[in-house]
Amino acid sequence: MLIFGAALAYPLDAQEGWAQSGFQTAIGSAMDVLDHESLAFPQSLPEFQRLFPDDVACAAYLERCRWDGGFICPYCQTSGEPFRFENRPGVLRCRKCRRNTGLMVGTVMERSHTPLSTWFWAAYLVASQTPGISAVQFQRQLGLKRYETAFGILHKLRAGMVRPDQDRIGGQPANHVEVDETWIGGKTRGEGRGVHHKTLVAAAVEVRHREPGSAQDKRRDGRYAGRVRLAVATDRSAESLCGFVQSAVMPGALIVSDDWSGYRSLRKLGYDHHAIAECGDPEVAEEFLPMIHLVFANLKTWLNGIHHGVSAKHLQAYLNEFTFRFNRRFYPFNAFRSLLGIAGGAAAPTYDALYSGEWKHPHI
Ligand SMILES: [Zn+2]
Repeated sequence: MLIFGAALAYPLDAQEGWAQSGFQTAIGSAMDVLDHESLAFPQSLPEFQRLFPDDVACAAYLERCRWDGGFICPYCQTSGEPFRFENRPGVLRCRKCRRNTGLMVGTVMERSHTPLSTWFWAAYLVASQTPGISAVQFQRQLGLKRYETAFGILHKLRAGMVRPDQDRIGGQPANHVEVDETWIGGKTRGEGRGVHHKTLVAAAVEVRHREPGSAQDKRRDGRYAGRVRLAVATDRSAESLCGFVQSAVMPGALIVSDDWSGYRSLRKLGYDHHAIAECGDPEVAEEFLPMIHLVFANLKTWLNGIHHGVSAKHLQAYLNEFTFRFNRRFYPFNAFRSLLGIAGGAAAPTYDALYSGEWKHPHI
């Protein structure tokens, strides 16, 4: 198959998919011109501590997110330095109309009794640590008294992880999309052969190409994973699997899958479908569907290693979290702000806008 080019023999290191690459450096510098100086994003834990040492610093950050040129009262539109309260850093009071404006209103932190700095830590850890963080680890790391507090914070952050307008992936003529399904979790001990208590997960991954001549060109023939979509599937039927593809991938996209009958009707549904024969053979599968196997390996390592397995009932929420982080792995700053719910109104590009070329960098 021509679309794969010649050099296909590269290691499928499960960690490698997460690795930041030369590509990240290029985008990283592009992002720097977008972040106004006052909204720096920490690159390390010490830097985080320097930028957000306490609740007052976090509140100041929220304030700058909202009013780049200084506070404007949302009630009377008066601009100018508001009253501040030492023990309530999240509240600003207008000097003219004397009404209070809450900095956390409209964010996931609204009505929370947890200190702002704890929220910032949580969003930073979730956004920047590649495997995310479990509630137990989080509670321990931040010295929170109650497990429930840690659990509640992480779940609120998770709630903001799926964009309501989430669009379908694929569709750029140069890229194709790998589609496959896998069984996740469950125990099979003592119940004989076969699949027991496992949940089927369907996935689609964009395969992108680096610019010829770029630093990473030789590795993987210049290919890397773009965006991913993951969903719990009811079974391996054509209805279930093709239904997933229709909800996740743009019509007309070139899709590569194995030759399972469940994918056979993709052509009829308007996709340019290439089925690879004998994908039951792991070597063939790794050769022709490398990105999706990388994603599955990462996903399983994460679910087992960080969360010690996840029940079928909650699996989709974890798939959403994995997807959120995977699709923003080059943009932790955007992830941080969307987690806190403070990205709205900021003139920053979305992941998609950056890729499609829709977004124009201010300096270029
Ligand atoms: Zn006012």
